[in-house]
Amino acid sequence: MLFKEFLVLVRRGVEEILSKAVDSVSKAAEQLGKDAEVAFPGTVYGLPLIYALTGRKLGSLESLRGELVSTKLLAMKKDELTSLYNSGLAALMAMEVSEAVNFSTVKAYPKPYVGFISDTTFRELSLSLADGTVPGIAVLTGRASGEEMHSLLGELKDRNILVLLAGPIIKGVKEAGYELGLESKLVPLGESYPSIVYAANLLVRTPLMFGGVEAGRREEILSYMKHRVPAFMILLRELSEVTAPIIAGFAGLGVPVITDADIPEIPRLTIKVDDYMKSVEVGCEVKGIKYKRVVKPPIPVDYGPSFEGERIRKENMYVEFGGAKTEAFELLRIRKPGEVSDGHIELVGPDLEELAEGSPAPLGIIVDLAGEGVERDLEAVLERRIHQFLNRCKGLMHIGSRDEIWIRISKEAAKAGLKIRNIGDILYTMYHSTFPRIVEKVQVSVITDPIQVSKMIGEARRLYMERDKKVKELTEEEVDAFYGCTLCQSFAPTHVCVITPERVSLCGATSWLDAKISYKLDPSGPNFIVLKGRCLDPVKGEWTGVNETVLDKSHGSTKRVYLHSIFGFPHTSCGCFEAIAFYIPEVDGIGVVHRGFKEATVNGMTFSTMAGFCGGGKQVEGFLGIGVNYLRSKKFLVADGGFNRVVWMTSELKERVKESIPRDLYDKIATEKDASSIRDLQVFLREAAHPVVQRWDKKA
Ligand code: SF4
Repeated sequence: MLFKEFLVLVRRGVEEILSKAVDSVSKAAEQLGKDAEVAFPGTVYGLPLIYALTGRKLGSLESLRGELVSTKLLAMKKDELTSLYNSGLAALMAMEVSEAVNFSTVKAYPKPYVGFISDTTFRELSLSLADGTVPGIAVLTGRASGEEMHSLLGELKDRNILVLLAGPIIKGVKEAGYELGLESKLVPLGESYPSIVYAANLLVRTPLMFGGVEAGRREEILSYMKHRVPAFMILLRELSEVTAPIIAGFAGLGVPVITDADIPEIPRLTIKVDDYMKSVEVGCEVKGIKYKRVVKPPIPVDYGPSFEGERIRKENMYVEFGGAKTEAFELLRIRKPGEVSDGHIELVGPDLEELAEGSPAPLGIIVDLAGEGVERDLEAVLERRIHQFLNRCKGLMHIGSRDEIWIRISKEAAKAGLKIRNIGDILYTMYHSTFPRIVEKVQVSVITDPIQVSKMIGEARRLYMERDKKVKELTEEEVDAFYGCTLCQSFAPTHVCVITPERVSLCGATSWLDAKISYKLDPSGPNFIVLKGRCLDPVKGEWTGVNETVLDKSHGSTKRVYLHSIFGFPHTSCGCFEAIAFYIPEVDGIGVVHRGFKEATVNGMTFSTMAGFCGGGKQVEGFLGIGVNYLRSKKFLVADGGFNRVVWMTSELKERVKESIPRDLYDKIATEKDASSIRDLQVFLREAAHPVVQRWDKKA
């Protein structure tokens, strides 16, 4: 199709979409009144696409009506190419208005459709994107058969790409027999084409939430989308007055569209493929999405990330281990090379066919691992990978860790020939293929003999305790170096996490040990060593080496960092922190709010509002993004008084870290149940005789 013909098709489609949006607003205004508020649930960005591109946060139906007039004007402006993009963006914005009205009148989509994705869910998803577990996002729409979808989704699943689905294509996905949902990374937005706007208004929150780009800075938003958001769209087959504006809109947003439909090509933005099976490869190439294919162990069933999260119900279970019904444990030990016989896999006790179908049985898994430079302090981190490695096996469900595991094997897997011994094959293959740099030898013992399981579980528990004691005792002063992470720089360009044994990362996902192993595995990866240098202030936690590394890694934007203070030069905050510590000047104390707390905090601001201005890699005195585990550290804001200075916390968070709050302070720290305003807080603190009250009295 020629460009001009395509533009005509897009413009005709936009007219139609805009007029539908005007109708839906008018009908809703008749039903609810023109001042009725419309909103998506769980976002602080109003109608995120419109907010990002225009800076306008809409609320009432009347304001939506006004927005549609501006949207129409946007579609008419400029040269042909700009007009194409603008028309497409106008179509998406009009779809967003229609969907927002639907939400306010009809409410949520019926299951399994997800519709609007909340800010919290997006933050959780963004962690996998930040750590590279999920390398990118594909938006799929159009029409395809079950067979076609089976092949295409196989390509996407192999690469562990998050897939957002909209329109009739979902029928094909269902026919292909794939499980839909966030857990399986196949997210059905809605069965109609306009539901694709939920993909657009998810992606466009990336520059706002993680990039520190202000809403309304349209060119910056679009540039960020084009260069930093690892997403592409695949549209199969259907080119119409509805899909043509969608193609133009996503291209306008900087999300390349790969299609087998007859469209004019625009370099790196609209790309035609003759064979739809090439679309995933092309999309990854255009967006620079790198991936590793998952190695398959020698087992008789399928294996891959797509089976992670698979649930095996009781009626479909052949056998189960642990789950509080029998003794079961898993243990990884680092041994000397001479103590490990590489490839030795032994089963001690009966295999699957000798166990009674449908009944629980005991299980022990012991992985012995050796390699140059693999130290004992990496045991816990490497052991945690057992969960992921086993969960990728089709027909095997693994939950928990250590001596609290629960494993089920399905009847189908047993019928296909899966044996308990295969647990050893999976672990042997995966440890070697995942950690080729450090792992030289692996041997696995799988124990089903009840007497042996009982005997070895005691040994395992002794080793868990030994490990915990050692990790708990590690201090900043004792270790040679700290570690850093810049994964969030894809969203927060100047953010640098400094991770110490007493200061977990902001996302809570990376401890000092995690960062250490990640650095060992891939020294050129996102984790790096931070040499401590000279200690300039042992209380605030200022080190010359930290300052030098942060200056370098933040591209010169952060010159000094206090690891344990909210004042002066606090640690930068990215966007995926688990909680925010905030100074409350009126009481000279500190409040802490966790992500997920929706109401206003005691200072009148919500978590999202505070996250908005302290995130993005900035160093903002008085506001600090933190990981929840930092509250459990002996060094938690020690320079500011630690818990002696904490005056308000959300009740949920207070309960979660209860054991780390000094007993005499616990009742003196207010929650939302005790104080919802500064005035209430002042009264509460005085009555509770909180230590900060002495500071007020001294000042007075
Ligand atoms: S919060 Fe810190 S540790 Fe976590 S992904 Fe971001 S930069 Fe890395």
